[in-house]
Amino acid sequence: MYTGIKLLTFVALTVSAAEFTTATSVDVLIIGAGISGLGAARTLLTSKPTLNVLVLEASQRAGGRIYTVTSKGGLPIELGASWIHGASASNPITQLAKQFGLKTAISSDDQFFLTNGTGKEVTYKAVNTVYRAFYKWMENKLTNKDRRSVRTMLDEYLKAKKLSSYDQSLLKAGVNSNIVQEYASGLATLSAAYFDQDGGFDGDDVMFSNGTIGLINGLLPGTQVRYGQQVSAIDYSSTTQVKVTTIRGDVFTASYVISTLPLGVMQRNTVKWTPALDAAKVQAMYMLNFGTLDRITLVFNTNWWDSEKEDCWVNRLTADNEKNLFTEFYSLTNILNRNALVAFVAGDLAAPFEAMSNTSILSGALAALSSMFPSITVPQPTEYFISRWAQNPFSYGAYSSIRPNATSGSVYDTLGVPSSNKRLMFAGEATQKAYPSTLHGAYNSGVREAKRILQVLGGKH
Ligand SMILES: Cc1cc2nc3c(=O)[nH]c(=O)nc-3n(C[C@H](O)[C@H](O)[C@H](O)COP(=O)(O)OP(=O)(O)OC[C@H]3O[C@@H](n4cnc5c(N)ncnc54)[C@H](O)[C@@H]3O)c2cc1C
Repeated sequence: MYTGIKLLTFVALTVSAAEFTTATSVDVLIIGAGISGLGAARTLLTSKPTLNVLVLEASQRAGGRIYTVTSKGGLPIELGASWIHGASASNPITQLAKQFGLKTAISSDDQFFLTNGTGKEVTYKAVNTVYRAFYKWMENKLTNKDRRSVRTMLDEYLKAKKLSSYDQSLLKAGVNSNIVQEYASGLATLSAAYFDQDGGFDGDDVMFSNGTIGLINGLLPGTQVRYGQQVSAIDYSSTTQVKVTTIRGDVFTASYVISTLPLGVMQRNTVKWTPALDAAKVQAMYMLNFGTLDRITLVFNTNWWDSEKEDCWVNRLTADNEKNLFTEFYSLTNILNRNALVAFVAGDLAAPFEAMSNTSILSGALAALSSMFPSITVPQPTEYFISRWAQNPFSYGAYSSIRPNATSGSVYDTLGVPSSNKRLMFAGEATQKAYPSTLHGAYNSGVREAKRILQVLGGKH
């Protein structure tokens, strides 16, 4: 009998941390127990163990967009981040993984496309050749001042080139894989000039064998976190301290506050800022998207697809991949030795996906697999796990990307500028242009703000 787990998005993952006792006045208050907030706390406490540092976290768990749950069979299942992108020794997440003794496995970039309905294989090379031609054409057309979206560029290209319907399907599959899935936003909301301005580290992409949550469990010890404390107001009008209020009515004061509120939360205006955030920051907030990437993980008794496809990305080629759900699957068989497939849904399709019932999502994913493997009777999974990041009130999406009205990637840096009285700092993945939307970018930003405070305090860092 099928025994799928109906997974609510906000099931608490219990993480033990010392409960803070009485003080509501601390040296440094950090808002958010994601990797940026916990990275900041650890940097502060490592350098100055006597500092009174407190983290306020709205949910009942640490990790934020790192969210590992455990299947009934004991497998760690990711609902959020799963890869270290560019796991060279200089990547700070590689360094943390090493410090915490976390086992990782190299993820292959291999990809296959299986044609919808027939299962006919199309190589990644075939898709990529058509995609690269478009990308090069777009690059040559763009200037730094260009405000066109990727959608506009794609429409112009299709009009100019008159591709066959088959080549159009290859191009749309390439655009969906390389742009929509990667940047988690629809093409109309992505700046053609800047969407891929981000940098990266060399090296393979790797996954955590026992869950990305190992990073959080490694960062937590020694840091005091109060869970269920959703910040509703931040008053930084004083030159000596910042006052933070939570929806429970609790009040905290601190000499310094580091806010790691996700951009999605900032854009919703659920927090009252006194004084209001400056115009440059507000403008920067709306030059960025906060897009959505969701995933459904299907756990099976057998790796029934492996006789057909050994590993990695197993994609579905439809007439227009941007308009169809369940076109990108990743096989965890070889990398993590488990009989599981993960389907990703991104950009404009995320909202309709999240509005579907769990059973409709499951049957849609299985129907897609059946169309890719027409000669196999696709079995029911033993369990499945669905994320709904856009519905999460503590992020409202997955991560940031650059809108067509942005003047450059430096809008990210504007979000990381501290208040003029230097009491309120901002960290999080969207506060730096070098590595937005990543674990390493988020972690670096927390360390950056901790160091800023240590510099003022004269600490060793
Ligand atoms: C589905 C998905 C897949 C991803 N895949 C990858 C990947 O493979 N590799 C990679 O490098 N990156 C990936 N990312 C991006 C990565 O997860 C993020 O960039 C990173 O985790 C962000 O960390 P952060 O500390 O900035 O924010 P968060 O992790 O969001 O932390 C912010 C914290 O603030 C809390 N909070 C929110 N509002 C309030 C409030 N009002 N009061 C108090 N607390 C509040 C939240 O609950 C949260 O715990 C992925 C993200 C998603 C969603």
